Amino acid sequence: MEQDGTFSFPYSSKGIEEIYGVQPEDVKENISKILEIIYPDDVEGVFHSISLSADTLTPWNYEYRVVLKNGEIQWLRGLANPIQSNDNSILWTGLIVNITNQKKIYEQLLLSKKEAEEANEIKSLFLANVSHEIRTPLNGIFGFTELLSSTELNSLQTEYVNHIIFSTENLLTLINDLLDLSKIESDKIQLNLEDIDVSKIAQSIVQILKLQSIEKNVDLQLLIDNSVPKTILGDGLKLNQVISNLLSNAIKFTDFGKIIFSITKESDILVFSIEDTGIGIPSEQLNQIFQPFYQVDSSLTKKYKGTGLGLSITKKILDKMNAPLEIKSVVGQGSKFSFKLPIFIPEHQTRITELISAPFNVNFDVKKHPRHNETNPKRIKILIAEDNELNLSFAKRAILKYFPMAEIFEAGNGLQALEIFKKEDLDLILMDIQMPIMDGYMATKEIRQLEKSGKRIPIVSLSAGANVGDREKGIKAGMDEYLTKPIHIRDLQETIEAFL
Ligand code: ADP
Repeated sequence: MEQDGTFSFPYSSKGIEEIYGVQPEDVKENISKILEIIYPDDVEGVFHSISLSADTLTPWNYEYRVVLKNGEIQWLRGLANPIQSNDNSILWTGLIVNITNQKKIYEQLLLSKKEAEEANEIKSLFLANVSHEIRTPLNGIFGFTELLSSTELNSLQTEYVNHIIFSTENLLTLINDLLDLSKIESDKIQLNLEDIDVSKIAQSIVQILKLQSIEKNVDLQLLIDNSVPKTILGDGLKLNQVISNLLSNAIKFTDFGKIIFSITKESDILVFSIEDTGIGIPSEQLNQIFQPFYQVDSSLTKKYKGTGLGLSITKKILDKMNAPLEIKSVVGQGSKFSFKLPIFIPEHQTRITELISAPFNVNFDVKKHPRHNETNPKRIKILIAEDNELNLSFAKRAILKYFPMAEIFEAGNGLQALEIFKKEDLDLILMDIQMPIMDGYMATKEIRQLEKSGKRIPIVSLSAGANVGDREKGIKAGMDEYLTKPIHIRDLQETIEAFL
């Protein structure tokens, strides 16, 4: 390039014919034959990249298109090093390559990737829908079986009913796991970061699983080092899911001895470790147990139960949290699963205020829930907005069982719910989400609008989907609590009790 900005090609190889369809002598003095075939949209970019290379004396490296005489479009890539001469002209030495085929392959790859992502999206949407559809009838089966179990039954009938409850619970776990996996695989899983109390999460999981360990006569110990911060920034629900998975596996695969669940702090990471004295895992299978549906000994499935999905979900969640999972295991002696969670301490928080030290010094505050035969004589007015008759009938009976004096109003859609709300002085509303005419979110928003100045009525959503964001959506609409179908009698009774 001369000082005045004119270009020439003092040397070009014969290959220029294949690339530009010109001879070396055609462009020796004047390169207009090359410039005029550059694809119109790329002309500016080519000139800009060349002048940038000239100004900064850095290599020219640019991809652009040319239109050949026969109308064909070719992709080219230019790579050349600039050298400035004494007269300020610049000479580039380098090459121009035809990259049309690479481009085609790359575009094909992008297309395939997009198609695969779309297929995955459809799969996860399908799974989410199927799970939603299955949950609704399951709610009916579950609810009525629970009601049935609290009626007068002979021992054979009790045994049958227990089998139904057991199978329904298994089916629900499987549906939840599948839904989780599909969400994780389609990268839909998002971490919802909030201030979380790690000790509290650990205690509540141990509280729930303690019963199982006692039944198996296995000693379950929780040790939280006092250097563990009171609050960190994290996703409490996901952390709960990970710990629950690892701890319930430890209990499941340990028939005697003990399980130690410890949380310690190492500089800016929290180390969670769950160590059992169970059956152990053969070293050659340690890598495989993270594959979906993989179980070390499928003949043991009957004995230990499970879907083989827990660890693959756990590992994927931990990967997302940048918390690598490590396993040490010796067959017949036990396993140790541990992960290191990077700590982010919320700025306004100070260090630990609650200390938990010796094993089982933890005072578990056992949840007080209404017992099967207990009743509460309160005269309360509850509205159930639910379009599915079976679910409505179940919710009604479950409420009346515990609150026999309750007055129940029924609405088949959000609009009817709104009408009843205007007329009655209600104490609580149970609101389904998906309803015809007006859905639960909209009805809640309308109610919150109407009651702006008056008292705030508790609204509990009854949702069939367990999708990420459902809860947030409900809370944003003005709901106070969120129950996922199938709804358990106790959860429903407890929730109502909590609001009255
Ligand atoms: P599931 O427990 O539902 O079978 P997981 O994905 O959680 O599925 O675990 C996969 C397999 O890894 C289990 O079936 C079991 O063979 C093995 N495993 C997991 N945790 C333990 C443990 N603590 N002790 C022994 N084996 C384990």
